[in-house]
Amino acid sequence: MEYKIPYKTENRTDAPEWGRFALHGEIGRRIAFYNERGVMSAHAREEVFAEAQSYFRDQQDDALRVGYWRGEFWGKLMLSAARVCRMTGNEEFRDFLRRETYALLDCQRPDGYLGTYRDSRNMIRCSLKAGMEDVGWACNYNWNVWCRKYTLWGLLEAADLLDDRHILDCADRMAEQLLDDLEALSVRLKDTGVMSGMPSCSILKPMLILYRLTGKGRYLDFARSAADEWEREDGECPNLLKKALDAVSPIRWFDRDRSPAAREVFSGGEGTDGDEWIAKAYEMMSCFDGICELYRVTGEEKYLRAAERYWEGLDRYERNVMGSVSYCERFWEAASHPDGATEICDVIHWMRLSWELYRITGRARYMDAFESAFVNAFFAGMYDTGDFCAFFIRSHGRPYDAVMQCKSRYQNCCLNNLPRGYVNGAQAAVTAGADGIRINLPLPLEAEIDSPAGRTKITVGEGYFTSGTVLVSAEREADAGEGRILFRIPSWSRSTAVTDEEGNLITGESGTFLALPLLPGRHTFTVRFDMTPRILDYEGPVEDLPGTDYHVQRWLGTKGTQSEVERDIMLTRPMSTVRRGPLILARSKRIGSSGEDMFSGETVWGRGMTASAEDVREEEGFLCRCRIVFRDPAGETIAYDMCDYASAGNFSSDDPRTFTLFV
Ligand SMILES: [Zn+2]
Repeated sequence: MEYKIPYKTENRTDAPEWGRFALHGEIGRRIAFYNERGVMSAHAREEVFAEAQSYFRDQQDDALRVGYWRGEFWGKLMLSAARVCRMTGNEEFRDFLRRETYALLDCQRPDGYLGTYRDSRNMIRCSLKAGMEDVGWACNYNWNVWCRKYTLWGLLEAADLLDDRHILDCADRMAEQLLDDLEALSVRLKDTGVMSGMPSCSILKPMLILYRLTGKGRYLDFARSAADEWEREDGECPNLLKKALDAVSPIRWFDRDRSPAAREVFSGGEGTDGDEWIAKAYEMMSCFDGICELYRVTGEEKYLRAAERYWEGLDRYERNVMGSVSYCERFWEAASHPDGATEICDVIHWMRLSWELYRITGRARYMDAFESAFVNAFFAGMYDTGDFCAFFIRSHGRPYDAVMQCKSRYQNCCLNNLPRGYVNGAQAAVTAGADGIRINLPLPLEAEIDSPAGRTKITVGEGYFTSGTVLVSAEREADAGEGRILFRIPSWSRSTAVTDEEGNLITGESGTFLALPLLPGRHTFTVRFDMTPRILDYEGPVEDLPGTDYHVQRWLGTKGTQSEVERDIMLTRPMSTVRRGPLILARSKRIGSSGEDMFSGETVWGRGMTASAEDVREEEGFLCRCRIVFRDPAGETIAYDMCDYASAGNFSSDDPRTFTLFV
């Protein structure tokens, strides 16, 4: 579909065209399996999509004073499905998505409104007292604008996929009507919904896509005014741009400068979550997705600077032990906790933010972070049944299964987002820009990609998770010009070398790119990564949190459910984790580890151990299996059979002691 407004600033590097890349190997197998079972199956179409659409007919999200979020599900399903459709090029599924979108559009009101709230102007959160009366706890939800954000974005994705002007026109009318509602109510976007308006304000991203597609200045003005509200001199919450530039830990953003409107949330009450609720990871990162887009649309450096500083803050304070950010769906200085649990939506949005910043800047650190989240936390949460996922993944115990939300049969925020995550991963493996072709994730794959020097076919072989030796071949037309190929040297690889076909050995520096000339014809390179296992001793103190602490309760899961784990497995003293190559390793009953061994508390922590890997092998259903031998300075050894975290517990488990990352 034609974009009327070009970006003011070009991406430094970008994904191949749709349909021109495919991952193979174990990750490719998991993606293809999920596409078939979880996205394109008859069940996914006839039950899951149908249920999500029914909410637009029933409009029950504002049946109580507490407003729900059933309206997000359809848009997320469409975003996921449209991207899977583009990636696979499945024409029959494309036809289904057209029918599905048109059926949804039947629910659009003559004035343009399309939503799951009967009253389109019901967008201000209810009082905690009303919530208590309605649902039995002090709940002030209102997700009206957030739901419309996802519907709008899903429609834009469908319009673009199907190159369908009618769908775009309907999305346009829908957005106009939302702006009319806001004007009629004289309400600022940030004062709608919950969490200081962050869920509502994340509509920035689809509004800017709509601006680029239609050229209507009203949408850009709206996006700018929403962003201006995050740069207030009076410090009113959530002031995201100003706070980001301060590079302060996000949990501390809301400790002061609270607006009267926000105080209502903070005032809490029995069963409320108090201050912490405000640093909700998924919603906050979604806002910065919009900020990245605002940078591309306007070219104004402050937006990029804020997004980069924000990312740095998360990298410093919120990186958790599973390769993602956040602690139990909030920013809670996860880096200061030895154990962790992270929502899959958070993993996906940390990947998304890292991916957008990588496309814009080409900086290696963003791809380092993306990789760690993708090959560890993300796949740990994507179940091996190919149609389900975790809500939270934990560092040990078992995953917290996705629970169906809003009394639905099939809908969960993480589940509906999930395919977007792996499509992002597949897109990110090889990219290209003015500086050449980048091999970002050297996973088994094939891709055809255009760079200024012409089209190049890239093939990458196995080995990234096992031997650490990977063959990369690049094939270019005979009349192509001289280009460059850039190999990402991951920050974890302490010594990395690329050998070209003449046998020249070129070493690269960790955390950078190694650029080599790429001539026409077919060329093969061998990349060797340092696969020595790395022991990470947890450095901070281990806080003994009271059992009433929200995060203890959240980590343990709901009593009496499949997801519950026992308090006595929470860490009471520091332990270590092991990484090999890009993978975080784990012990698991799946590979024969015993519960007594895994949860005995015995640790290599603080013993000055070194580690080596023996018997490293590939096996279907795993990214890697190996035996890790730990050796202390006196020569005494301990050995554990280990596998990648992404395969140690990627299933619903009836055993609360299934796996652990800790040694
Ligand atoms: Zn979620």
